[in-house]
Amino acid sequence: MTDVDGSGPLLARTPEEVRERLGRERAAGRSIGFVPTMGALHEGHLSLVRAAAADTDVVVVSIFVNPLQFGEGEDLDAYPRTLAADVDLIAPLGVALVFHPDPATFTPVDRMTTVHVDGLTTGLEAATRPTHFDGVTTIVTKLLNVVQPDRAYFGEKDFQQQAILRRMAADLDLPVEVVTCPVVREDDGLALSSRNVYLSADERRDALALSQALRAAAGEWDGDAEAARTGLIDALTEAEGVRLDYAEVIDPDTLVPLTGAGHAAAQGVVAAYVGSTRLIDTMRLG
Ligand code: AMP
Repeated sequence: MTDVDGSGPLLARTPEEVRERLGRERAAGRSIGFVPTMGALHEGHLSLVRAAAADTDVVVVSIFVNPLQFGEGEDLDAYPRTLAADVDLIAPLGVALVFHPDPATFTPVDRMTTVHVDGLTTGLEAATRPTHFDGVTTIVTKLLNVVQPDRAYFGEKDFQQQAILRRMAADLDLPVEVVTCPVVREDDGLALSSRNVYLSADERRDALALSQALRAAAGEWDGDAEAARTGLIDALTEAEGVRLDYAEVIDPDTLVPLTGAGHAAAQGVVAAYVGSTRLIDTMRLG
């Protein structure tokens, strides 16, 4: 285990190093907050770290570009890897430990176990990324087993993901509280994402269509899920430079698409390609 610059968080590369360090914290009665990430950190990630630091004594961040959650032809190789800058960003926030495992040993090719959640993992993201959530749940389970946090923090931005992880923790009696934090946006509304670095200036402007469509749907929300869905689809079909993947209005807990009118609350979820970059966004309606 190495100390990155003498004052920042410790950088652990193996589960053993994490257990050794956190065992002492746990023995001293300190609570542990955990923020799993793929790195290329931005204010969205930092909001999770700040929430963890406010709630718990010892904050652990994992930085791991999880190969299992990328499908054929997705951007695993191109995904930004900026470890030194990431550590600089989180060091002032009081992070105690960064876990940065080696993919060759953390996700060996001969592993035989997959953690799978039913139901919630069909549709929406899974329609275009059928193996994605098995990759997420398998790695998050491993990370939770290594870190054994009291609380783990996830972003509402990945709305389907946090619902799946919440359900997984409940179904498997994992001794962790899953905390979901709000979407952090640029001033103009664009949801922060590590993939925003792929966008050209023109694409960056076109990408605003996602948050604008959701904001309009939230503003016009009167309980009519059909009208809201049609509004989202129309806005994103007509938007320049945007190729719609899906736009849905769902029950926030079951993720089931809502039909008809009279709903007190719903969640708008959208995914679209801007150029070759696939972006997602979400907003509470009502
Ligand atoms: P990632 O590194 O993309 O896997 O994201 C790590 C965590 O940060 C996930 O729980 C994401 O939902 C969360 N996250 C990503 N972008 C944002 C954002 N704009 N606002 C809040 N949380 C986010």
